[in-house]
Amino acid sequence: MKDYLLALDQGTTSSRAILFTSAGEVVATGQIPFRQHYPQPGWVEHDPLELLDSQLQAAAQCVAASGVAPGDIAALGLANQRETALLWEKATGQPVGRAIVWQCRRTAAFCTQLQEEGYTEAIRARTGLLPDAYFSGTKYRWLLDHIPGARRRAERGELLCGTVDSWLLWNLTGGTVHASDYSNCCRTLLFDIHRLGWDETLCQLLDVPQILLPRPVENSGDLGVVAPGVPHLEALAGLPIRGMAGDQQAALFGQGCFAPGQLKNTYGTGCFTLMNTGTAPVTSQNGLLTCVGWGLGGETTYVLEGSVFNAGSSIQWLRDELGLIEKASDCDVLAEQVPDNGGVYLVSAFTGLGAPYWDMYARGAVVGLTRGTTRAHLCRATLEGIAYQTADLIAAMERDAGQKIPALRADGGASVSDFLMQFQADLLGVPVERPAVVETTAWGAACLAGLGAGLWSSPQEIPRAGGGKIYTPKTDRSRAYAQWKRALERAKAWEEAEP
Ligand code: ADP
Repeated sequence: MKDYLLALDQGTTSSRAILFTSAGEVVATGQIPFRQHYPQPGWVEHDPLELLDSQLQAAAQCVAASGVAPGDIAALGLANQRETALLWEKATGQPVGRAIVWQCRRTAAFCTQLQEEGYTEAIRARTGLLPDAYFSGTKYRWLLDHIPGARRRAERGELLCGTVDSWLLWNLTGGTVHASDYSNCCRTLLFDIHRLGWDETLCQLLDVPQILLPRPVENSGDLGVVAPGVPHLEALAGLPIRGMAGDQQAALFGQGCFAPGQLKNTYGTGCFTLMNTGTAPVTSQNGLLTCVGWGLGGETTYVLEGSVFNAGSSIQWLRDELGLIEKASDCDVLAEQVPDNGGVYLVSAFTGLGAPYWDMYARGAVVGLTRGTTRAHLCRATLEGIAYQTADLIAAMERDAGQKIPALRADGGASVSDFLMQFQADLLGVPVERPAVVETTAWGAACLAGLGAGLWSSPQEIPRAGGGKIYTPKTDRSRAYAQWKRALERAKAWEEAEP
């Protein structure tokens, strides 16, 4: 019985694989970390062959540990770190240089130039994005301009480019499929999210020849099969590849946010909030991004996306820089020991503030300290600060989408904090739901693959694993919320010089 789905989750620091049953239970996992390269301050690179090898090994490890016969796996689905960009040789599959990672700021000056030359609105109208070094397009341009001979070879048709989804797919299929799914394409600055195709004007503006780019495809369907002779995956030759999505969109899908207005927040190092806005793209008035969530069966679902730059990282700061706690879970324990925050507010604007505030000159602030402030208050203020920033972001999304949210679905490392989840529900005034299986990214990839393999005929048929936890609003936090807004003002525009 082909009742299993293999999900690959190629992340920023490790490659993971999870084998699920079609009911959403985790059967086995595999995980292999890989190296980060920092050739200059602000630059981040990955070795494409190491990314690939770690991912293939993680998959092999997972399948071996599961004891499941490869013939019982219905399909493979892929989720990946988004925006990370690379070039490789069409004939040999050899990478041309390292991959430039999404975090890398090396193309910031070019993006500023695009803004100064007045391209921001044109870019936003077509792509839903802002000209920022975060996105892939300017990274391709950099590779073509800085790797000796690359541009000339690219123009001769000898090279291919892609984000990590297309790199993995190309390798899994033995170099036969060069495609990228809409959720990844839409993070490049080159993709028209309305027409669902590469935009020739933007390709020219960013100096990226279209012949290099992968073919844009839907997120579920026949993406190819695992080729014979893929290293570590010999036993999986012939396995259909049926789903593919960028990690945040995969998590939204894995959380079952199929209806307009539904949203999820991933509480990791930072927070990523994505709201399903239905089949029409919504333009934000608050600096949120408009992206493709997924394309399925000829229908495109759009999302609004925003992020809190520092969320779980502020708990790491309490632990690693201040030494106030030994492990992240201590933060929760201490926060529960005090009846309130003692008037203390912590704004984790360590690297400025993102949506909806957009203040790169903001810096972290702790306000309201008294002689009676304890580390428990600081821990509580840190968790509350994450929830306040998320609430502000969601309020902006509600304004943009013109609808109130019914509930928030949560995942990510910091979503294990009961205090944080309860406080978030109190602030939003709607339930916060945390699923039992928090591997929502991998599950989303598995779901897309399962749909493509015909295990279900629509997303609504996908089972939602029970056993999660629902936090319903209990306490009115409106007075504290007003205080938070004052604290935020203290943190804004702190840095005077160009950061
Ligand atoms: P990422 O994918 O961004 O690396 P994860 O989803 O793995 O992040 O989450 C890691 C974050 O979760 C860390 O920043 C850590 O501070 C936070 N975290 C882990 N355990 C807890 C906990 N018990 N309470 C609150 N935060 C936690």
